Amino acid sequence: MVKISNIKIYENIEDDKIIDLVIKKYKINPSDISNWHIVKKSIDARKKDDVHYNYSINLELKNENKYKKFEKVTKKTLPNIEINNLDKKTPLIIGSGPSGLFAALTMVQNGLKPTVIEQGDAIEKRQEVVNNFRNNGKLNPLSNVQFGEGGAGTFSDGKLTTGIHSPFCSKVLQEFVNFGAPESTLYLAKPHIGTDNLINIIKNIREYIISKGGKFLFNTKAIDFNIKDNKIKSVICTNNGNIFELPATHVVLAIGHSARDTFFKLYEKGILMEKKNFSVGVRIEHLQDSINKAQYGTSTKLKLPPAEYKLAYHSKTGRSCYTFCMCPGGVVIASSSDKNTIVTNGMSNYLRDRQKC
Ligand SMILES: Cc1cc2nc3c(=O)[nH]c(=O)nc-3n(C[C@H](O)[C@H](O)[C@H](O)COP(=O)(O)OP(=O)(O)OC[C@H]3O[C@@H](n4cnc5c(N)ncnc54)[C@H](O)[C@@H]3O)c2cc1C
Repeated sequence: MVKISNIKIYENIEDDKIIDLVIKKYKINPSDISNWHIVKKSIDARKKDDVHYNYSINLELKNENKYKKFEKVTKKTLPNIEINNLDKKTPLIIGSGPSGLFAALTMVQNGLKPTVIEQGDAIEKRQEVVNNFRNNGKLNPLSNVQFGEGGAGTFSDGKLTTGIHSPFCSKVLQEFVNFGAPESTLYLAKPHIGTDNLINIIKNIREYIISKGGKFLFNTKAIDFNIKDNKIKSVICTNNGNIFELPATHVVLAIGHSARDTFFKLYEKGILMEKKNFSVGVRIEHLQDSINKAQYGTSTKLKLPPAEYKLAYHSKTGRSCYTFCMCPGGVVIASSSDKNTIVTNGMSNYLRDRQKC
């Protein structure tokens, strides 16, 4: 397999037609190509009079020796997470945000049958509850923009970018595609899923986990932990006022950052916790059109997605200020999870087709 990088594209062309341009530009015999795929697609808008798409593609060629000018590459294999020493025990996962869902997915891929408990609603019902909050201001502290199946990022932009370089990043992206995200998620420089797509993907992941023997208990909150000799024995749960005990020898706490009452309980139980730094921020609303002009200029004829930006300032005192998460073509929404508190977030659908960001 060979890789061709830095393919500059100045015309509006569908991704699956890129190969025609590559064949022409690099004088490749079409019958030599047995397979091809895009590895990366980004926008280069550094010079406003030279805005273009930049592609890298991998080609599987029959007569590779004819094409020595191209860089040879080998196929990447995705890393697998192997879970050992858990035998056939039923692990308990608390929380069905990204951590809980991926923990459950990894477990069923290893032949385990986890039970996932979630204080909020399943995604279909959660959507109704969130709409009710938005339209009527009625807050459910257990199921809202932050809590419920899919976790805190569900009603956001669904960005899939990270600053870390881990082989597991590709695995996460591949799983999203396996469960319904567009194929381009694998090669866009800044992939995003959008709230509308995420809702289906989360449902697909849940159904797969259930088909492999996993279990989901919604509207079920972990309220206490039964620990003996420094080992977990069971988790006390509540569902609609009914209190019951779930035996457990292995518990994954995938409770996110906003489960304040559960953190108090863990602290009370003497469970070791490590503090993490946090940032405080505000939401700023721009007109999408002004960001597009600032980033892309006005001369390009290319059809480009709604633009975004990232700014950071690092002071000498060690404190920094940075833009955290933009939601191009999105909307600012109320995102409280507690009475008498105010939280705001940005949210966009896959098409990012609203006028603001
Ligand atoms: C407003 C907002 C917007 C964001 N937007 C983005 C974005 O666009 N892209 C991005 O990458 N990241 C975004 N993030 C960050 C991202 O959402 C988090 O990093 C991610 O959700 C963390 O996943 P998690 O599974 O650890 O926790 P969470 O997503 O917080 O999920 C934890 C789950 O556990 C449940 N839970 C908690 N306690 C209990 C209990 N005692 N019993 C039962 N269930 C319990 C909660 O109800 C919740 O559903 C955003 C975060 C916030 C708050």
